[in-house]
Amino acid sequence: MELLKQRINEEGLVLNNRVLKVDSFLNHQIDPGLFQAIGKEIADRYRDAGIQRIVTIEASGIALALMAALELNVPLVFARKKKSILMVDDVYHSVVYSYTKEENYDITISKKFLPAGEKVLIIDDFLASGEAAMGLAKLVQDAGDTVVGMAIAIEKSFQPGRERLEKAGYRVESLVRIKEFKDDRCVFVED
Ligand code: 5GP
Repeated sequence: MELLKQRINEEGLVLNNRVLKVDSFLNHQIDPGLFQAIGKEIADRYRDAGIQRIVTIEASGIALALMAALELNVPLVFARKKKSILMVDDVYHSVVYSYTKEENYDITISKKFLPAGEKVLIIDDFLASGEAAMGLAKLVQDAGDTVVGMAIAIEKSFQPGRERLEKAGYRVESLVRIKEFKDDRCVFVED
């Protein structure tokens, strides 16, 4: 997605050769026009897949996923993150290792917002090791739903996330794929 590549080139900051900071349009300040275009692009890629629900993770996934959910006219539910929870019966639960914070956290979705037997699209802002996406997929599968695919705004293709998700059998659509960081700039995988 050219528009997103452009913004990354203009405003992205590479930290420690490992993390891309895009706070000025994606992770802190949000550009609604850009998000609308991202939502449409995600929806276009999955329009014929019979998606019935979108699942994402708080906080940065929500705005992106909302734009796609509007386009596809389906409900959106986001997993909540907690450091640790008392296990309760009315939530689906999974544990995720945070790439940026370097610690485990729990994610939960209330059972009433994941009815069984639906086709679900998982959306997130970044793909690095695939931990967040795998954790979300577990919640969806525990609910008796099918993960039709995953849509990611920015994939760091030099990290193992895509391979891990594809090995697990998931369709992965990333709007921008970064091949490497070079001299604090992004080199993109050619489409
Ligand atoms: P994964 O679970 O695939 O290792 O990492 C994905 C999650 O970590 C995303 O939800 C995102 O919040 C965060 N993340 C991973 N890499 C980056 C990055 O380079 N920049 C930012 N802003 N977030 C990242």
